[in-house]
This record gives sequence, C-alpha cells and structure tokens, in this order.
Amino acid sequence: NLSERLERSFKILKGQGTITEINVAETLKDIRRALLDADVNFKTAKTFTETVKDEALGQNVLTAVKPQQMMVKIVHDELTKLMGGSSTDINLDGKPAVILIAGLQGSGKTTFTGKLANLLKSKRSKNPLLVAGDVYRPAAINQLQVLGEQIGVPVYTEEGSKDPVKIAKDAIKQAKQNGNDLVIVDTAGRLAVDEEMMKEITAIKNAVKPHEILFVVDSMTGQDAVNTAKEFNDRLDFDGVVLTKLDGDTRGGAALSIRSVVNKPIKFVGTGEKMDALDVFHPNRMADRILGMGDIVSLVERAQEQFDAEEAQKLQKKIAKNQFSFNDFLSQIQQIKKMGSLKDLAGMIPGMGKAIKDMDFDDDAFKEVEAIIYSMTPDERENPAILNGSRRKRIAAGSGSSIQEVNRLIKQFEDTRKVMKMMGKGKNLSKMMANLP
Ligand code: GDP
Ligand code: MG
Repeated sequence: NLSERLERSFKILKGQGTITEINVAETLKDIRRALLDADVNFKTAKTFTETVKDEALGQNVLTAVKPQQMMVKIVHDELTKLMGGSSTDINLDGKPAVILIAGLQGSGKTTFTGKLANLLKSKRSKNPLLVAGDVYRPAAINQLQVLGEQIGVPVYTEEGSKDPVKIAKDAIKQAKQNGNDLVIVDTAGRLAVDEEMMKEITAIKNAVKPHEILFVVDSMTGQDAVNTAKEFNDRLDFDGVVLTKLDGDTRGGAALSIRSVVNKPIKFVGTGEKMDALDVFHPNRMADRILGMGDIVSLVERAQEQFDAEEAQKLQKKIAKNQFSFNDFLSQIQQIKKMGSLKDLAGMIPGMGKAIKDMDFDDDAFKEVEAIIYSMTPDERENPAILNGSRRKRIAAGSGSSIQEVNRLIKQFEDTRKVMKMMGKGKNLSKMMANLP
C-alpha cells in the first residue's frame, strides 16, 4: 500500500547527507508510483511529485536533519496542502438550514444523513428533521426511520408519495412549524450516474435551495470515485465531499484526487457503520494517514470524549510526568470497550491498519491482556520498571500466558507510553516523524 511504498522510498534516502537531484530522483519515482497505486490520478500524482521535488531541492540541508526526515515532512506538508490545508465547516445559516445529500446508491448517504444529524444535534445543539427522499425503495425509508429512532431525531416521510421534490418542500414547511432549525434531505441514488437521477436531484436542489449540498462517495471505489465526483459536481456544483468507509483498507488516495479534480473541500469522513463513526475532515490528519501513521489525533479525541473530564485531566498529568501505569492501561481498555467498535478504533492506531485487516474483533479481544495485568501486583502495575525476568515468569504462569506474551504486552505498553508522552507535549507530528524508520 501507499504508506509502505513511501516508507520504503524514504529508506532509500536514509543515510544520504544531502538532497540532490540524483538521490531524490529514485524516491520521487517511487512516490509517484505509490500514489498511482493508491488511486491518485495521474495528473495529480505528477504535479505532486514535481512540487515535492522543487521543495526538496530548494531546501538547505542542515547536517543535523536527515534528508529522509525532511522528505517525509515535505511530502506530508504537500499532501496537506493538496487536500485543502485546513478543515472547512458546513453552512448552517438558514432558518431552517437545509442540507441536501447526493451520491450513488450504496455510497453511504442514508447512513451519513443519520450520522450528521447525530453530530450536529450533540455538538452544535441543532434540532434536526430528516427527510426520506429515497422514494423508490420502501426499505430505504424504513432504514432512515430506524436510524432516526436510534439517535432521537424525527424523520419526515409521505406515505405512498413518489415525488421527492414535494416531500422535501413539505418537510421544510413542517420544520418551520415544529421549530426544527436544520433539515437534512436524504435522496435516492443509482448504481451508476444516470440522467434521471441527475434530473431529480437537480429539481430538488432548485426547489428547496439548500444552504449546503454534500456529495457522498465511497472511498473504496478508488478512481471511480473521482469520475463520479466530477459528474455530480458538473451538475450540482456541490459544496463539499463526504468520504465514507475510510475504516476499510483504503489509505485515502481518493481524497487526494477528488480534491484536486473538483476543487471542492472534503468536509467529513465516515469511519464505520455506527452513528458516531463520523469525523470532521482534517487534511493534515489525512496526510498522516496516507503516510501510514494512523489517525491517532482523531483516536485520542474520540477517546477523550468518552472520558469524563476529571479522569482525562488526571491522566494528562500522569502522562506528562511519565507516570502512566498498567492500572491506567486497564482503565483505558475498559474505556475502549465502551467506545463501540474496536476495529474502527484499532484501525486508527499507527501500524495497526494492516495488522487488523483479517482479524476478527470481539469483546474478548482484550481478555488475555487483562489477565496478564491482573496477574501483576499493584506495585508492579504502578511501577512497570520493576518487572524483571523472574517477575515476568511469575506473571506468565499466573495468567496462563507465555513469557513471550508477557514481554510483548510490556513492550507494547512502553511504546504506548512513549507515544502518549509525545502527544501530551503537543508535538506529536514532528516527533513522530523524527522517529520514522
Ligand atoms: P446509500 O444507498 O447511499 O444510502 O448508502 P447506505 O447509507 O445505505 O450505506 C450502504 C452500506 O454502507 C450500509 O451497509 C452501511 O452500513 C455502509 N456504510 C455507510 N457508511 C459507512 C462507513 O463509513 N463505514 C462502513 N464500514 N460502512 C459504511
Ligand atoms: Mg439510502
């Protein structure tokens, strides 16, 4: 995948004293190939590598900085820039604000409609009304109703009606009457772009004059995603893109190309099937992800939301003082279990993406880890430094694991501690990059 390829090409640069035309050429070729493989389109990849080259050659290489680190930073910064630099908000100024959701069938529109309502309700105190505009499949209306019930948001439907334009207009009327300050209109999609669908959604657009049109696209469809985005944009001139199913194996190549081809910001990313699996799109985090570092900032943020504030503060202090212990580790595991899909979360941890691909996650995933920690004495849990060979042996026997398993856990714990300490200092990115192989 892209991250591995980039890592490998960076390694080629390792140990070279300066960035020159010669030692950078091979790396750039690799980067370009890696980008193409990750579904970045040809033109984008070409422009990108040229920019990186100019940047790299223009650098005054300090002897203290390894060229390979500098390249990582240049590539990272360029990726971030290419994806728009910073995150872009949606327009919610309307009374009610109307958001129209467009995209192909199966791209994740209905799921996103629910997720967005959930997010805006909880984070921005909105009072949304959802509109079931996919009138062709009864199951689609029902799907939205189920989601609405889950998140406690009303869904507007019209029994037997086949006129989504009228439904959307009526829904807005009702929203005004009932004091809903936000209306999100879910629509029907086809398996491929077709004239009828485009006419219908254009008619809805013209009738309700949405404040925000979001185009939803499945990030796993690769190069097709770019073509679809272009066709929708030509017709609808949408305001932003929602990239779904980023919890899968994709590294986000589509994010790069879509942004550069339609020149519209990506605003949200979907990272799972559950209603809370939605993140605001941050170009720099996506750049991390593409580079294979994992979206650890999002992970920490999401984790933090689940902690009560006091606990988080206590933890922060401990992390800063490097006193994070196995007891904290245990309570974190409890927190993670509360957070829902383990696979969603694990995929965001650097280096875990590949490892979890074929793994089955269930609630017992931490059982072994917990058993090992429970076999430690309170003193050992608080001061992992005292875990010498004989203690480890005792713990292995006590928890029914092997010494290797105990060693592995302690190693993992120490690594986590290191990462957390870095994050605590707020210098995560540059530090993490300095530690790349
Ligand atoms: P629509 O036809 O565009 O309305 O698509 P749906 O919202 O019905 O989604 C199609 C399928 O994709 C459903 O099974 C969803 O659960 C799934 N889905 C949607 N978004 C995501 C996501 O971000 N991650 C994952 N893993 N699945 C998703
Ligand atoms: Mg749908």
